[in-house]
Amino acid sequence: MHDLSCATCGSLAEGFKCAACGIEQDEFEAGHLCGDEHLMPKCSICSEAETECNCDSL
Ligand SMILES: [Zn+2]
Ligand SMILES: [Zn+2]
Ligand SMILES: [Zn+2]
Repeated sequence: MHDLSCATCGSLAEGFKCAACGIEQDEFEAGHLCGDEHLMPKCSICSEAETECNCDSL
């Protein structure tokens, strides 16, 4: 159902990571304590949240 991609580099995203607290989850958690907007797709290349991703898109 979910077809996630990293907004920074466009590669496949694997699960979610919170850019604020760093927690990683397989599924999006509505109502995450840092705020839903911080829980974002996790880049499968660098394993960082998409806003923390520094991978270059090829
Ligand atoms: Zn990325
Ligand atoms: Zn968090
Ligand atoms: Zn990355």
